[in-house]
Amino acid sequence: MKTQQFFRPTKAIIDLQAIQQNVKNLKEFLRPNVQIIAVVKANAYGHGDVAVARAALKAGATVLAVATPDEALHIRAHFEEPDILILGASPVSFAPYAAQQRIILTAFADDWIQQAASLLVDEALPLRLHIKIDSGMGRIGIRSEQELLELYQTIQSTDHMELDGIFTHFATADEEDTLHFDQQVQFFEKCLAVIPNKPRLVHASNTAASLVKDPHLQYDAVRFGISMYGLSPSSYVKSILPFPLLPAFSLESELVHVKQIKSGDPVGYGATYVAPTDMWIGTIPIGYADGVIRKLGGQEVLIDGQRMPIVGRICMDQCMVALPKAYDIGEKVTLIGRQGNTGVSIDEWATKLETINYEIPCIITTRVPRTYL
Ligand SMILES: *Cc1c(COP(=O)(O)O)cnc(C)c1O
Repeated sequence: MKTQQFFRPTKAIIDLQAIQQNVKNLKEFLRPNVQIIAVVKANAYGHGDVAVARAALKAGATVLAVATPDEALHIRAHFEEPDILILGASPVSFAPYAAQQRIILTAFADDWIQQAASLLVDEALPLRLHIKIDSGMGRIGIRSEQELLELYQTIQSTDHMELDGIFTHFATADEEDTLHFDQQVQFFEKCLAVIPNKPRLVHASNTAASLVKDPHLQYDAVRFGISMYGLSPSSYVKSILPFPLLPAFSLESELVHVKQIKSGDPVGYGATYVAPTDMWIGTIPIGYADGVIRKLGGQEVLIDGQRMPIVGRICMDQCMVALPKAYDIGEKVTLIGRQGNTGVSIDEWATKLETINYEIPCIITTRVPRTYL
């Protein structure tokens, strides 16, 4: 296979061994026979869905979960065998394709099932479904035992459909307070008790619940997302992790221009930064069109094992960094990752941007090629 050549030195580097190790550590931590559903939605949280899926399967994951039909088809085009589950609501019109491609859909409403059933006629295999219980997330899923029974009976009485799983999703599994979490568990358990025959896969736990909640909530499978990528779901979970996580995402570039400017010289749009003394400025070929958004102005990057600040406004395709001395063109710049003993983490960017770590690799755009270690 020919690998694409990239001429700009800016790239994301994904450590697939870190991802495999995170999955292996989880597998060892879980109760025996609990399956791992590797969550590779949103291009594997920006890490690259096909490469991450391959690594996760190698390390012991048995199911791949995505958010949308298009993501599922992209995965299926690269992997013939494994089960693929779409966690979100799929359009009814996708049901026949899902059956043909052996993609499992989420059943979240009775009228959706009835409409989908009318489109399934001569598919060779039944459409497999996981029922979604909304136990307190307020997103998709059924909200009463009555609704559940109706949905269950519709599926059971329909040719071409097979109930394969039932699941829910926690809103506060990453928090120390357990009041809402416990209520969600109670409602889910009540729902499980209502259905006559439990399907193959009962699952409830995302990363946070898998790592820090009661082991019986692992049921038949857990949905492992954020910590597969070496990131903690929250600072609370980070403080009580059962095993260390290995981050997988680095963002690197190189200096493409280095120059000396005089005291009083401005840098960047709006001339907002003015050199306080004679100083060295380096230019990095990465900007907000790559996901290094303007709010990251002032963020430090690593050069020569030291932290140096981005100065001036970040441009669409470039940004400037204050250097303590002249560096050669081609000097490596690490925006996220490690150099020697220092590191800039995804969590540091998340704090700077007043958001959660989940969002950071997702906002690094497709212009930045993902390369693999
Ligand atoms: C995204 C998602 C997950 C993964 O959550 P993490 O916190 O990354 O583990 C699990 N389940 C559902 C339904 C999701 O949408």
